[in-house]
Amino acid sequence: MILSLGISPQPGALERAQKLLLELGMQYQVLHTPNATVIVVTSDADALPGHLFTQLDGIEKVVRLGNRSPLSRPGADGALGVTFGHGPAAVTVGGGAAPLIVAGPCSVESREHILETTAAVKTAGARALRGGAYKPRTSPYDFQGLGLEGLKYLREAGEAFQMPVISEVMSADQIAGAAPYVDVFQVGARNMYNYELLKELGRQPKPVLLKRAMSATVDELVQSAEYILSEGNPWVILCERGIRTFETRVRNTLDLSCVPVLRSLTNLPVMVDPSHAVGKRDFIRTMSRAAIACGADGLLLETHLVPAKSISDAAQAISPAVLSEIVKDAQVIYNALNPKITVQSGAISQ
Ligand code: PEP
Ligand code: MN
Repeated sequence: MILSLGISPQPGALERAQKLLLELGMQYQVLHTPNATVIVVTSDADALPGHLFTQLDGIEKVVRLGNRSPLSRPGADGALGVTFGHGPAAVTVGGGAAPLIVAGPCSVESREHILETTAAVKTAGARALRGGAYKPRTSPYDFQGLGLEGLKYLREAGEAFQMPVISEVMSADQIAGAAPYVDVFQVGARNMYNYELLKELGRQPKPVLLKRAMSATVDELVQSAEYILSEGNPWVILCERGIRTFETRVRNTLDLSCVPVLRSLTNLPVMVDPSHAVGKRDFIRTMSRAAIACGADGLLLETHLVPAKSISDAAQAISPAVLSEIVKDAQVIYNALNPKITVQSGAISQ
């Protein structure tokens, strides 16, 4: 971090800045250049809030040199695995684990519907259950979800079929009520910028699946993750779900390049949701293959027993039969790209 005091520093400005830096335990050097007096902070100042310095009288400019995402950046420990669910239902996403397939309906439609759907996605090979109870719908006149009642059905289904449950909350005041019923809180694309929600999710212990907003840059997604991490919750899973471009043939454009980019910027698991990205069931298997091939830690797939009859997002719902093909594809592609060295009768084979 560099603090500039301008060409002719205000009286006392340098001393004030030095005093604050000493109080914060920061080391620094003062340079008098022809264009400005500057303080170069040589300690790691990434986690220090910039306003501490900008609010000091006489500081003209604060320039950050380092990483603005200190908590999510790749560390020496390598990729982070996030584990959720209990006992035999526990699953891990990221950290080198094989891809996690999460499936379920867009919305929980009724108790029978979620119980039957859970049975089908479990048989198809999914290992965690998704389903919306609080639904962020573009139109206020569309089905808004069953709310808490839907979450109770979802939990019942997850327990009946030993699958951990992922569901969305849209505001901070829904967290406490939803907590007993979910293993992972989802933050939807429309709420990636809801910083009060992110901060509150950072103050509770369950993992958070954070979806990229439709017009967010990769860096904005990482900064939103930092809001959760900086409150103390380390369990954040990132999810690419398509961004808005000029293309209209698909619902959104699946930005798979963000998978390796996020991998280079963070140690957090990266999932891909091809359903909301392409928005059309015919293209979901292909893009699921591509997502696994580029290194996604898992897939989120909207699945319905009778896809065309899904109450929400019917055009993108796939059948359990297609889900089962995607689960097999993912295994084949993952195994091909991550060959395990096995020792057989003294010979090493891949
Ligand atoms: C969802 O997962 O059901 C959903 C609403 O997704 P998104 O927030 O990505 O639109
Ligand atoms: Mn949906």
